[in-house]
Amino acid sequence: MNKSESDLASPDMKQNRRQFIKSSVTVALALSLPPLPAVAKTKQIKSSSKMKLSWTPYDLELRHTFTISGFSRKTTPVVLTKIEYDGLVGYGEASLPPYLGETQASVIEFLKKVDLSAFSDPTHLDEILEYVEGIAINNTAAKASVDIALHDLAGKIIGAPWHKMYGLNKTDVPDTTFTIGIDTDDVVREKTREALGRFNILKVKVGGPDDKRMIETIRSVTALPLAVDANQGWKDRHTALDMIHWLKEKGIVMVEQPMPKHDLENIARLTEESPLPIFADESLQRLADIERLKGVFSGINIKLMKCTGMREAWKMRNFAETLGMKVMMGCMTETSCAISAASQLYSGTDFADLDGALLIANDCFDGAQLQNGKIIASDLPGIGVEPNQKIGFGK
Ligand code: MG
Repeated sequence: MNKSESDLASPDMKQNRRQFIKSSVTVALALSLPPLPAVAKTKQIKSSSKMKLSWTPYDLELRHTFTISGFSRKTTPVVLTKIEYDGLVGYGEASLPPYLGETQASVIEFLKKVDLSAFSDPTHLDEILEYVEGIAINNTAAKASVDIALHDLAGKIIGAPWHKMYGLNKTDVPDTTFTIGIDTDDVVREKTREALGRFNILKVKVGGPDDKRMIETIRSVTALPLAVDANQGWKDRHTALDMIHWLKEKGIVMVEQPMPKHDLENIARLTEESPLPIFADESLQRLADIERLKGVFSGINIKLMKCTGMREAWKMRNFAETLGMKVMMGCMTETSCAISAASQLYSGTDFADLDGALLIANDCFDGAQLQNGKIIASDLPGIGVEPNQKIGFGK
């Protein structure tokens, strides 16, 4: 632990951090991560260069009011980050849907504590991100905003996009779902029609009193495969199982977070009896949560904002697969910055829900793009993004 970290850590935080390191080590031993291939074009950097972190709050305007079980909103706050180093710039993002507890103010407070001056080489991701992890507990989106910017910067120094460094075929990805929120029949039909021809699978938010009606309304427009996300909305296992059997008859292919996140006993029995795969979302945040979900869910939904970014998401993906679990790559409402970061590491997974940037009207980055229903990473180095407007980063 370096000095600045030691100064900031309370005894509780230190214990939490020790537990985190211990569990991470246990998990790491169970993994056999592929080695990163050597890349020839590494930029020669000056040894005197220093990293400079800056940020700006930004409000995403949603194209449609977004309703899930219990919430409705028209904007999502984010904080955009930038790390400059020797003439190169890495971009990152923290997306802050209100129900997750982080705010623009809490992210900025966290970022003010991040002192990268002790690190001379931005490609030493493990070392730098272990330090960032130890600054405070939680703050997962704030940590992700540093992680993503650092991956972008490191990729630009190395001269390659991350999907190449992970050894992945960027086109071997699952179709992304496009989310249809809970709404009036007319709006649901309109949103479904808008999705036709662009997407090969839709995601329907259920968990309310009118689930069957939502599905029937969508089915009146299209026969596309559907994923459903109950957002913990079904409280009784028997009712949930009846609903899942009905959904299978209607062409639904997977179910996300059917029941309350802590009710693992009932979810495990539901998964055992379910004819459809059951994925964890709210029941899971980080790498250390996965092991207890084996045998409870069929798979996990990995989101960069919940797991502190690409470094841990990559470990989570590999660990879940090692345990024989399915993987889906998810997102919050995000710009193409965070979506492009996610697009680097999900080739070969089972499902994708990466429509976040497609739901907003003021995306300030160009990066991964929708092609034939799939989100495909660009070939630019790092996370593969460029701002499409001037972004006023300050400190
Ligand atoms: Mg979900």
